Amino acid sequence: MPDDFSYFDKIEKALKRVSCFFSFFRIETPIMEDVRIFERGTGMTSEVVQKQIFVVKSRGRKEGVMALRPEMTPGVVRAYVQNGLSYVVLPGKFYYFSPIFRYEQPQHGRFRQFYQIGLEIINTSDSAYDAQVISATVKILEDLRIKGFSIKINSIGCKVCRPSFVKKLKEYYKSNLSKLCRDCVKRYKINPLRMLDCKEEKCQVYKIKAPQTLDHLCVSCKNHFKTVLEYLDEMKVPYLVDSTLVRGLDYYSKTVFEVFVDGFDFALGGGGRYDYLSETLSGPRMGAMGMAMGVERLIEVMKQSQISGLPKIQPKVFLIHMGDQAKKKAMGLMEGFYKEGVNVRESLSKDSLKSQLRQADKEGVQIALILGQREVFEDVIILRDMKSGNQENVALRKVVEEVKRRI
Ligand code: AMP
Repeated sequence: MPDDFSYFDKIEKALKRVSCFFSFFRIETPIMEDVRIFERGTGMTSEVVQKQIFVVKSRGRKEGVMALRPEMTPGVVRAYVQNGLSYVVLPGKFYYFSPIFRYEQPQHGRFRQFYQIGLEIINTSDSAYDAQVISATVKILEDLRIKGFSIKINSIGCKVCRPSFVKKLKEYYKSNLSKLCRDCVKRYKINPLRMLDCKEEKCQVYKIKAPQTLDHLCVSCKNHFKTVLEYLDEMKVPYLVDSTLVRGLDYYSKTVFEVFVDGFDFALGGGGRYDYLSETLSGPRMGAMGMAMGVERLIEVMKQSQISGLPKIQPKVFLIHMGDQAKKKAMGLMEGFYKEGVNVRESLSKDSLKSQLRQADKEGVQIALILGQREVFEDVIILRDMKSGNQENVALRKVVEEVKRRI
């Protein structure tokens, strides 16, 4: 609704400011894409693809072939490769502000259509960019004056070191499977890493003693993570290392992070490195790093923290008319104001002077312009200073100029 857009606009402004500084360029992908982009990219074992993806079927087909995007990243990588940018834009740095669709049980902070803002840096394995994405995320939050946020960060390793870690994790959990929640039993089979971020009460004791990803990284992942933290330290970006953080999507490797705000039980956003995604989508091998934050959740945090949206544009002029002739002239006059870039409020459907003046007063305008039968006849308009109540006649053909001079 219009009131919400003051928040949307403020978030977009912050996103654009930060993106401009770090040279991210705007990208938009189709809302509907081939379902395989997400099945292969986001991953068949992710909850998003297993339970939440909206598959679009046509009346004539049994199988759905398209899907409403449940996230942006696979589509952005596809677009980057398909448009040949991988040869010319190195790395590709993109930002987006886009609608996302997930089949959820709608509830507080969870919708079936919501917006995400995000950043993607494609075609680089340099750990400096992991730190840059996190720093840019923090800058957006700071720009919005959001207080009490924290960045949790972890490394989940790569294809070299993760398999042996997952094996250790499975060995650890094997003897306790009967005591875990149903989801964890499922995760044990299809995505054991996710057992580490289970929120169920009864799984917590096992989680605490579980093997930690950071203790099982290969030399390359260890160095990568170390340098990310060093860059963050250098930039004075605050973070907390959380060895249980793994993220929900299949494609993550090495760095993962999430954003939380004190007093809110949901994550505001998160991201990480996705070095294998392009290959999974049959593109070239290339490292990448990104993040996404939920716009509605940002708005909720802003509202509860008494942070306002962007102020509305407040017109300084109100045009009042009385009678049909005056109404016609008022319509013509508005064209003149538009050309000169002066915003004017009106109440064309009202007739009485009293009700229009009352509205002008309520809107807090500086000047009311009053046009009646007599003024039309004499080719003038009454210019009323709303603060002092002083009124004077101004020639109709000079009124735009005069108003411009005064406001
Ligand atoms: P994810 O890609 O699942 O990590 O989501 C990134 C961010 O998008 C989350 O941290 C939320 O802020 C937001 N988000 C995810 N799902 C929803 C939803 N169903 N409704 C509103 N916001 C969401």
